[in-house]
Amino acid sequence: MRLFLFDVDGTLVSARGAGRRAVGRALEAVYGATGPLATYDFRGKTDPQIIFDLMGTAGLSAVEIAEHLPRFYDRYVQDLRAEIGRAGGVKVMPGIAELVGLLGAQADAVLGLLTGNIEAGARIKLEATGLLPHFRLGAYGSDAADRARLPAVAARRAEALAGRPISPERVVIIGDTPLDIACARAFGARAVSVATGGHRVEELAAHAPDVLFADFADVGAVLAALLDGRPGRFLGGGLRPPSDASPPGLRRQSRRSNNP
Ligand SMILES: [Mg+2]
Repeated sequence: MRLFLFDVDGTLVSARGAGRRAVGRALEAVYGATGPLATYDFRGKTDPQIIFDLMGTAGLSAVEIAEHLPRFYDRYVQDLRAEIGRAGGVKVMPGIAELVGLLGAQADAVLGLLTGNIEAGARIKLEATGLLPHFRLGAYGSDAADRARLPAVAARRAEALAGRPISPERVVIIGDTPLDIACARAFGARAVSVATGGHRVEELAAHAPDVLFADFADVGAVLAALLDGRPGRFLGGGLRPPSDASPPGLRRQSRRSNNP
């Protein structure tokens, strides 16, 4: 079994700001404050992390924040549904529909979600896209506030599904932020990065993912890179490696290479 874990926002889809607007409306309704919502960077963060950060800055204690969190989530999922409707739905990122179809059809591949969204939020964002049936499990912000804990949750669920253990090097974590890369590293998984979520290719390259694409539009190249389990850097989509002159699309030296 190989486990491919996809982030949601900026990787599979864009909710066109609906998430931030829904968080703002629900915070106002439940806590009576929004904290530094306008300037806060949501990218790669889990929902509980976002709420504790924003409300902590607004002066609430952790106990107060936690006490109202269930009510916040109830209100947030209502507001999220409304905001996505108002925005005309979510946008599926280039190549994603074809990619998850082809990857999910591989004999030994299991696809899952690894996202900071609470489970209900992830479902709302994906339900109209037709993508949900491809994902057989998930690890969510509702499982842990610390993203780095989510790969172990997903692996446990995959093991329960398949009835056999999976080692971290058989896990691929696909996301659009440096936090997705850090989360993969913390678990010992392969880190695949895509610059469709607001972080530029150069920013992501600085965090040294195993694979980096500007987007997943070249589905054949992306599929090949995802299925190639060897370590090393691969930059697709015509990208040039940031620190050497290798031709684009060529595999760089493996980190375990004996060549200087
Ligand atoms: Mg993301």
